[in-house]
Amino acid sequence: MRIDIITVLPQLLESPFDHSIIKRAKEKGLVEIHIHDLREYGKGNYRQVDDYNYGGDAGMVLMIEPVYNLINDLKREREYDQVIYMSPDGELLSQPMANRLSCLDNVIILCGHYKGIDHRIREHLVTMEISIGDYVLSGGELAAAVVCDSVVRLIPGAISDETSALSDSFQDNLLSPPVYTRPAEFNGWRVPEVLLSGNPKLISQWQEEKALERTRLLRPHLLDSSGK
Ligand code: SAH
Repeated sequence: MRIDIITVLPQLLESPFDHSIIKRAKEKGLVEIHIHDLREYGKGNYRQVDDYNYGGDAGMVLMIEPVYNLINDLKREREYDQVIYMSPDGELLSQPMANRLSCLDNVIILCGHYKGIDHRIREHLVTMEISIGDYVLSGGELAAAVVCDSVVRLIPGAISDETSALSDSFQDNLLSPPVYTRPAEFNGWRVPEVLLSGNPKLISQWQEEKALERTRLLRPHLLDSSGK
Protein backbone atom coordinates (compact mmCIF):
# COMPACT_ATOMS: atom_id res chain seq x y z
CA MET A 1 0.00 0.00 0.00
CA ARG A 2 1.16 3.52 -0.75
CA ILE A 3 -0.12 6.55 1.17
CA ASP A 4 0.62 10.11 -0.01
CA ILE A 5 -0.16 12.77 2.59
CA ILE A 6 -0.54 16.41 1.57
CA THR A 7 0.05 18.94 4.34
CA VAL A 8 1.19 22.49 5.10
CA LEU A 9 2.88 21.20 8.26
CA PRO A 10 5.07 18.23 7.29
CA GLN A 11 6.98 18.61 10.57
CA LEU A 12 3.89 17.39 12.43
CA LEU A 13 4.09 14.08 10.60
CA GLU A 14 7.81 13.46 11.06
CA SER A 15 7.58 11.12 14.02
CA PRO A 16 4.26 9.21 14.04
CA PHE A 17 5.30 6.83 11.27
CA ASP A 18 8.78 6.09 12.57
CA HIS A 19 7.93 3.83 15.47
CA SER A 20 6.42 0.51 16.41
CA ILE A 21 4.10 -1.32 13.99
CA ILE A 22 4.10 1.33 11.23
CA LYS A 23 7.87 1.52 11.25
CA ARG A 24 8.15 -2.25 10.93
CA ALA A 25 5.48 -2.36 8.21
CA LYS A 26 7.54 0.18 6.24
CA GLU A 27 10.72 -1.84 6.77
CA LYS A 28 8.94 -5.00 5.58
CA GLY A 29 7.87 -3.15 2.42
CA LEU A 30 4.15 -3.47 3.26
CA VAL A 31 3.52 0.27 3.17
CA GLU A 32 5.14 3.43 1.83
CA ILE A 33 4.13 6.74 3.36
CA HIS A 34 5.15 9.89 1.49
CA ILE A 35 4.66 13.34 3.00
CA HIS A 36 4.24 16.24 0.56
CA ASP A 37 4.69 19.85 1.60
CA LEU A 38 1.90 21.80 -0.09
CA ARG A 39 4.01 24.94 0.15
CA GLU A 40 6.29 23.60 -2.56
CA TYR A 41 3.33 24.20 -4.88
CA GLY A 42 2.64 27.70 -3.52
CA LYS A 43 3.22 30.76 -5.68
CA GLY A 44 5.45 33.78 -5.14
CA ASN A 45 8.19 34.53 -2.64
CA TYR A 46 5.96 33.48 0.23
CA ARG A 47 4.89 30.24 -1.40
CA GLN A 48 1.29 31.22 -0.77
CA VAL A 49 -1.14 28.35 -0.29
CA ASP A 50 -3.99 30.05 1.59
CA ASP A 51 -6.13 33.13 1.11
CA TYR A 52 -9.00 35.04 2.67
CA ASN A 53 -12.39 33.44 3.08
CA TYR A 54 -14.90 34.83 0.57
CA GLY A 55 -17.72 36.08 2.73
CA GLY A 56 -15.41 37.71 5.20
CA ASP A 57 -15.39 35.27 8.14
CA ALA A 58 -12.12 35.14 10.04
CA GLY A 59 -9.65 32.40 9.13
CA MET A 60 -7.67 31.52 6.03
CA VAL A 61 -8.71 28.92 3.48
CA LEU A 62 -6.37 26.57 1.57
CA MET A 63 -6.40 27.50 -2.14
CA ILE A 64 -7.43 25.09 -4.87
CA GLU A 65 -4.56 25.65 -7.32
CA PRO A 66 -1.62 24.26 -5.34
CA VAL A 67 -3.71 21.27 -4.19
CA TYR A 68 -4.88 20.63 -7.76
CA ASN A 69 -1.33 20.76 -9.13
CA LEU A 70 0.11 18.50 -6.44
CA ILE A 71 -2.65 15.90 -6.81
CA ASN A 72 -2.24 15.98 -10.61
CA ASP A 73 1.49 15.38 -10.32
CA LEU A 74 0.82 12.36 -8.10
CA LYS A 75 -1.87 11.04 -10.44
CA ARG A 76 0.52 11.25 -13.37
CA GLU A 77 2.70 8.64 -11.63
CA ARG A 78 0.00 6.13 -10.63
CA GLU A 79 -3.71 5.56 -10.20
CA TYR A 80 -5.26 6.31 -6.84
CA ASP A 81 -8.13 4.37 -5.26
CA GLN A 82 -9.19 7.27 -3.08
CA VAL A 83 -8.39 10.94 -2.56
CA ILE A 84 -9.29 11.38 1.09
CA TYR A 85 -9.91 14.71 2.79
CA MET A 86 -9.68 14.77 6.60
CA SER A 87 -12.71 16.74 7.74
CA PRO A 88 -14.76 17.10 10.93
CA ASP A 89 -17.95 16.61 8.89
CA GLY A 90 -16.67 13.52 7.05
CA GLU A 91 -17.72 9.90 7.59
CA LEU A 92 -16.69 8.82 11.08
CA LEU A 93 -13.62 6.59 11.16
CA SER A 94 -14.52 3.08 12.32
CA GLN A 95 -12.89 -0.34 12.38
CA PRO A 96 -14.89 -1.57 9.34
CA MET A 97 -13.72 1.53 7.44
CA ALA A 98 -10.10 0.89 8.48
CA ASN A 99 -10.49 -2.71 7.29
CA ARG A 100 -11.74 -1.53 3.89
CA LEU A 101 -8.98 1.06 3.52
CA SER A 102 -6.28 -1.49 4.37
CA CYS A 103 -7.20 -3.38 1.17
CA LEU A 104 -6.44 -0.40 -1.12
CA ASP A 105 -3.23 0.06 -3.10
CA ASN A 106 -2.79 3.84 -3.41
CA VAL A 107 -4.45 6.61 -1.45
CA ILE A 108 -3.93 10.33 -1.11
CA ILE A 109 -4.78 11.98 2.21
CA LEU A 110 -5.27 15.74 2.17
CA CYS A 111 -4.94 17.58 5.48
CA GLY A 112 -6.78 20.85 5.82
CA HIS A 113 -5.68 23.72 8.00
CA TYR A 114 -6.93 27.07 9.29
CA LYS A 115 -10.57 27.55 8.31
CA GLY A 116 -10.57 24.58 5.92
CA ILE A 117 -10.08 24.16 2.18
CA ASP A 118 -11.72 25.76 -0.87
CA HIS A 119 -14.91 23.76 -1.23
CA ARG A 120 -14.27 23.15 -4.95
CA ILE A 121 -11.45 20.79 -3.92
CA ARG A 122 -14.03 18.73 -2.07
CA GLU A 123 -16.48 18.86 -4.95
CA HIS A 124 -14.10 17.98 -7.77
CA LEU A 125 -10.94 16.30 -6.45
CA VAL A 126 -11.81 14.51 -3.21
CA THR A 127 -13.48 11.08 -3.37
CA MET A 128 -13.87 10.34 0.36
CA GLU A 129 -14.02 12.43 3.54
CA ILE A 130 -13.09 11.07 6.94
CA SER A 131 -13.59 12.50 10.42
CA ILE A 132 -11.95 11.06 13.53
CA GLY A 133 -14.70 12.39 15.80
CA ASP A 134 -17.16 15.17 16.47
CA TYR A 135 -14.69 17.81 17.60
CA VAL A 136 -12.50 20.26 15.72
CA LEU A 137 -8.71 19.94 15.45
CA SER A 138 -6.39 22.69 14.24
CA GLY A 139 -5.33 20.68 11.22
CA GLY A 140 -5.83 17.33 9.52
CA GLU A 141 -2.33 16.00 10.29
CA LEU A 142 -3.03 14.31 13.61
CA ALA A 143 -6.27 12.91 12.19
CA ALA A 144 -4.38 11.57 9.15
CA ALA A 145 -1.86 9.92 11.48
CA VAL A 146 -4.73 8.24 13.35
CA VAL A 147 -6.21 6.94 10.08
CA CYS A 148 -2.83 5.64 8.89
CA ASP A 149 -2.12 3.93 12.20
CA SER A 150 -5.51 2.20 12.31
CA VAL A 151 -5.15 1.10 8.66
CA VAL A 152 -1.51 0.02 8.44
CA ARG A 153 -1.71 -2.33 11.43
CA LEU A 154 -4.41 -4.25 9.52
CA ILE A 155 -2.30 -4.92 6.43
CA PRO A 156 -1.56 -8.67 6.51
CA GLY A 157 1.94 -9.15 7.89
CA ALA A 158 2.12 -5.79 9.72
CA ILE A 159 1.49 -7.45 13.06
CA SER A 160 3.58 -10.58 13.38
CA ASP A 161 0.81 -12.51 15.10
CA GLU A 162 -2.13 -11.79 12.80
CA THR A 163 -4.64 -13.23 15.21
CA SER A 164 -3.75 -10.38 17.54
CA ALA A 165 -5.29 -7.77 15.24
CA LEU A 166 -8.32 -9.98 14.73
CA SER A 167 -9.02 -10.17 18.46
CA ASP A 168 -8.81 -6.40 18.94
CA SER A 169 -11.84 -4.37 19.88
CA PHE A 170 -14.45 -3.79 17.17
CA GLN A 171 -13.19 -6.49 14.79
CA ASP A 172 -16.14 -8.69 15.66
CA ASN A 173 -18.46 -5.93 16.85
CA LEU A 174 -17.12 -6.72 20.30
CA LEU A 175 -14.79 -4.91 22.65
CA SER A 176 -11.62 -6.66 23.69
CA PRO A 177 -11.66 -8.66 26.96
CA PRO A 178 -9.35 -7.43 29.76
CA VAL A 179 -5.71 -8.51 29.53
CA TYR A 180 -3.20 -9.11 32.32
CA THR A 181 0.48 -9.92 32.66
CA ARG A 182 2.87 -11.04 35.39
CA PRO A 183 3.00 -10.91 38.36
CA ALA A 184 -0.10 -12.95 39.11
CA GLU A 185 -0.51 -10.96 42.29
CA PHE A 186 0.45 -7.35 42.99
CA ASN A 187 -0.46 -5.44 46.11
CA GLY A 188 -2.99 -8.17 46.90
CA TRP A 189 -4.71 -7.69 43.50
CA ARG A 190 -4.91 -11.04 41.74
CA VAL A 191 -5.21 -11.85 38.08
CA PRO A 192 -8.50 -13.77 37.48
CA GLU A 193 -7.86 -17.43 38.43
CA VAL A 194 -9.16 -18.80 35.16
CA LEU A 195 -6.30 -17.13 33.24
CA LEU A 196 -3.82 -19.04 35.40
CA SER A 197 -5.63 -22.35 34.88
CA GLY A 198 -3.81 -23.27 31.67
CA ASN A 199 -7.13 -24.53 30.26
CA PRO A 200 -7.51 -22.95 26.79
CA LYS A 201 -11.22 -23.81 26.53
CA LEU A 202 -12.11 -22.22 29.86
CA ILE A 203 -9.93 -19.21 29.06
CA SER A 204 -11.53 -18.53 25.71
CA GLN A 205 -14.99 -18.98 27.26
CA TRP A 206 -14.09 -16.41 29.92
CA GLN A 207 -12.69 -14.03 27.30
CA GLU A 208 -15.87 -14.28 25.24
CA GLU A 209 -18.05 -13.62 28.29
CA LYS A 210 -15.97 -10.62 29.32
CA ALA A 211 -15.96 -9.22 25.79
CA LEU A 212 -19.75 -9.45 25.67
CA GLU A 213 -20.12 -7.99 29.15
CA ARG A 214 -17.88 -4.99 28.38
CA THR A 215 -19.57 -4.40 25.04
CA ARG A 216 -23.03 -4.48 26.66
CA LEU A 217 -21.83 -1.99 29.24
CA LEU A 218 -19.64 0.37 27.19
CA ARG A 219 -20.79 0.12 23.53
CA PRO A 220 -24.25 -1.49 23.52
CA HIS A 221 -24.94 -0.19 20.00
CA LEU A 222 -22.33 -2.63 18.62
CA LEU A 223 -24.49 -5.53 19.75
CA ASP A 224 -27.64 -3.99 18.24
CA SER A 225 -25.96 -3.72 14.87
CA SER A 226 -24.54 -7.27 14.92
CA GLY A 227 -27.65 -9.02 16.24
CA LYS A 228 -25.67 -10.63 19.15
N1 SAH B 1 -13.90 25.28 9.75
C1 SAH B 1 -13.91 23.86 9.71
C2 SAH B 1 -12.83 23.27 10.59
C3 SAH B 1 -11.47 23.50 10.12
S1 SAH B 1 -10.31 22.75 11.16
C4 SAH B 1 -15.25 23.36 10.22
O1 SAH B 1 -15.80 24.00 11.10
O2 SAH B 1 -15.70 22.30 9.76
C5 SAH B 1 -8.91 22.64 10.13
C6 SAH B 1 -8.66 21.29 9.50
O3 SAH B 1 -8.46 20.32 10.50
C7 SAH B 1 -9.77 20.76 8.63
O4 SAH B 1 -9.67 21.29 7.34
C8 SAH B 1 -9.53 19.27 8.67
O5 SAH B 1 -8.59 18.86 7.69
C9 SAH B 1 -8.90 19.06 10.04
N2 SAH B 1 -9.83 18.53 11.05
C10 SAH B 1 -10.36 19.22 12.08
N3 SAH B 1 -11.14 18.44 12.84
C11 SAH B 1 -11.10 17.21 12.29
C12 SAH B 1 -11.73 15.96 12.63
N4 SAH B 1 -12.54 15.84 13.67
N5 SAH B 1 -11.46 14.90 11.84
C13 SAH B 1 -10.65 15.01 10.77
N6 SAH B 1 -10.05 16.16 10.41
C14 SAH B 1 -10.26 17.25 11.16
